[in-house]
Amino acid sequence: MCVMGFGQSTDETMSLCEEEERAAMKAKKVKKPEKKGRKPKSTFLHSGICKTCGVPHPWGKDAEIDSDNTSLLPPMRGVFYETEELEHLLGGLEETVGLSLSNIYITAHKRAVSMFVSNMLQGFTVDMARRLLSRIVYMRIIQLVNWCGLGKVSLRSYKKGKWLELGVSDIWSERLFPGDVAGVWTAVEGKDCSVKLRRAGNSWVCRAEALLEWEDRFTERLHPPAGVLMGTKDYPRCPVCGAPDEFKCYQWDRKKGLIKERDTGISVAHNTVGCVNTALFEIREELGKDLLDIVTRMEAEFIKKRVAEGRYERGRTPGCIGTADRNEVYSHYLDIIKRRCMGNPIEVSFSNKTLEVTVRNPGNEELLLGRILGTYEAVEGTPGQIDWQVVQGVLEAKVTPSNVMG
Ligand SMILES: [Zn+2]
Repeated sequence: MCVMGFGQSTDETMSLCEEEERAAMKAKKVKKPEKKGRKPKSTFLHSGICKTCGVPHPWGKDAEIDSDNTSLLPPMRGVFYETEELEHLLGGLEETVGLSLSNIYITAHKRAVSMFVSNMLQGFTVDMARRLLSRIVYMRIIQLVNWCGLGKVSLRSYKKGKWLELGVSDIWSERLFPGDVAGVWTAVEGKDCSVKLRRAGNSWVCRAEALLEWEDRFTERLHPPAGVLMGTKDYPRCPVCGAPDEFKCYQWDRKKGLIKERDTGISVAHNTVGCVNTALFEIREELGKDLLDIVTRMEAEFIKKRVAEGRYERGRTPGCIGTADRNEVYSHYLDIIKRRCMGNPIEVSFSNKTLEVTVRNPGNEELLLGRILGTYEAVEGTPGQIDWQVVQGVLEAKVTPSNVMG
């Protein structure tokens, strides 16, 4: 799910908004409130796109993004995951522990998404619409989801309180999409569900069905929100919608439900940072494994390959890795952290074979440490080891050559 809140209606959403409002008022015989000055920011979800900067409204008008590209509405922190990066991580973890982690992934993701959507569905009018007009709420969420790079989603079948069936093509993650659907269901319906994903030709069908009782014993168990919000909006952004200028690097294809980086061509998907955080938290709780080193190493291998293949090179890649200024090279590769909303690498320095990186507002420590370590190993062509600490919402990492070959 994307980082989104509520805002004033756009041209594209006007008819649905009015329909909801009329129906809700008719059902409850509520007197329409008088408009006084500026409309408060808690009405309906936007689903349009900014004509000035080309960034969809969920990231412009609705979300309040700070100078670290982090949403100012905790715990609704959203990040851009590389779809291949997540598959590498989640598939690799299953191989490492030798077990199917499907239930853990889906349950953890369901909780994170449910919290995310519940925060979206705030406000009197929307709350009423959710109870009385849940089909319209699902339609509105689907409109927004199609901006998030999760695939092209459509409503196939729905019976209030009983089931929800969605079709999806270009699915972002077969492992996690059922968790997306279950999370939306539990947030809207207020009851637990079973969820199944099946193939249908070239696309997929995902069906959530109501359970009589909550089967998830840990409904409230979530990894706490990461990072410290800076609260400043002093950064280059679109004067019309307020989206960070950096988000112009993304190409949004709503018809296919895809997001690609224009300069690298890499597919990304926008989802809650609570997804990976809570999945790792659950694996630790359930299996008692300390996964930090395993996940960091797994991510480092993925990033090392990406860098070596030139996948992160953009127009301004500073010369040849072997000869260019190391500080420029590392800044170039690690700048990607910020555009993905995973934190802001405010200091990057290299000397005496040592790379030191400071990331303000880190999103997921394991993924960030893996990215820093993998970048070092690709650039230096030698194994590294990483020491780190988090102090007051700031990640300080130091990579040095490893003493052990590996
Ligand atoms: Zn804009």
